[in-house]
Amino acid sequence: MRMYDIIQKKRDGFELSDNEIKFFINGYTKGKIPDYQASALCMAIFFRGMSEAETVTLTKCMAESGDQLDLSRFGTLTADKHSTGGVGDKTTLIVAPVVACLGGIVTKMSGRGLGHTGGTVDKLESIPGYRTSLSEEEFISQAEAVGVAVIGQTGNLTPADKKLYALRDVTATVDSIPLITASIMSKKLAAGSKNIVLDVKYGSGAFMKTKEDAVKLAENMVKIGKGCGRNVTAVLTNMEVPLGSNIGNALEVKEAINVLRGRQDDELARVCIVLASEMIAQVRGIDSKDAEALVTDAIEDGAAFEKMKEWVSAQGADPKCLCDTELLPSAPVIYPVLSDTDGYITKTDAHLIGTAAMILGAGRASKEDKIDFSAGIVMEKKPGDCVKKGDVLCRLHTSDVSKIPAAEQTFRSALCFGAEPPEKQELIYRIIK
Ligand code: URA
Repeated sequence: MRMYDIIQKKRDGFELSDNEIKFFINGYTKGKIPDYQASALCMAIFFRGMSEAETVTLTKCMAESGDQLDLSRFGTLTADKHSTGGVGDKTTLIVAPVVACLGGIVTKMSGRGLGHTGGTVDKLESIPGYRTSLSEEEFISQAEAVGVAVIGQTGNLTPADKKLYALRDVTATVDSIPLITASIMSKKLAAGSKNIVLDVKYGSGAFMKTKEDAVKLAENMVKIGKGCGRNVTAVLTNMEVPLGSNIGNALEVKEAINVLRGRQDDELARVCIVLASEMIAQVRGIDSKDAEALVTDAIEDGAAFEKMKEWVSAQGADPKCLCDTELLPSAPVIYPVLSDTDGYITKTDAHLIGTAAMILGAGRASKEDKIDFSAGIVMEKKPGDCVKKGDVLCRLHTSDVSKIPAAEQTFRSALCFGAEPPEKQELIYRIIK
């Protein structure tokens, strides 16, 4: 078999066979196929697409390219979630303990933040002592004992995706639905859970800018996940605006704690309740509405917060930090950004707000950058709010005062004002099963 023929076949719009896809993934992972041929094939897939059968094979081959976690001892109780990435997305911190205290086994490998989006692993590392790296044995035994374990991606999970994603990133081939589907779903398959809930975000802060593209991606991922023998549900959520009020690692942990302590009943809490309910519906085989009643009770009676303490303590952190959030990192500089106009906030650009948080030190511009766990933004106003000149729009948190001017300018450029309130946007657009 020759890579040249595979590229030509896809370029001309034909369907690749299982053996051709296997040949490509095995050869590329082992370094036998050069980057230039892999990029040519990715570009051909970008333009020609892939059938469902091709995407299932690609996903399976990528999942099988490295280690795979065997969670069969937990039967059908295992539950994983994946967010396609956004700004202020701290849902895992809330959803994981809720699902665990209702009988699910949440074993999750999360990513780090890059660019304007945050990563769960960075958020967890802002809790002093939390270990994001566990051996496979520790990971499984914690999942068994506590019901939840969340770590960073381990060394040899889906090496094909690591290589291909890096290549797609520099060859303008990231935003291809079959390639994104295979990339995300191969990691989920290798991570081993039977049940998977996908939080597919759309809007200015998300990968998918429109609802229509988000629906296409979600439908594809659900179909492919099911084709690979998993229960998959996708929840399409709005990312025009950051989720919740806090953006930045320790700030987001503090906000997650407020939701779990029942002190915050807002859009963040609503998205988390829906995600957790869908996971419980899968794990217990019950209706989403019945699952929602259980989820709400688990938050209201404090069981979910107790589970979060048990979880972080099992992973090396002091649970006192969750009860007394003064013990979490806090910024020496807190700078209020004041409105210079009267009017309604009509629109925000979540991407720019995420970028402002990154400038303050909450994220990385490149993989090597170090994070300031205390840095970030607390939004005081959101779209639909009426503001007066001099009102506080947000507070910028940082350890480095020299970062304030650029962050302030970026934040201001993210807001639009008008004389009339904007139309209210839905928070959850669709649930696809
Ligand atoms: N996230 C992933 O993990 N892979 C993609 O291709 C896009 C987003």
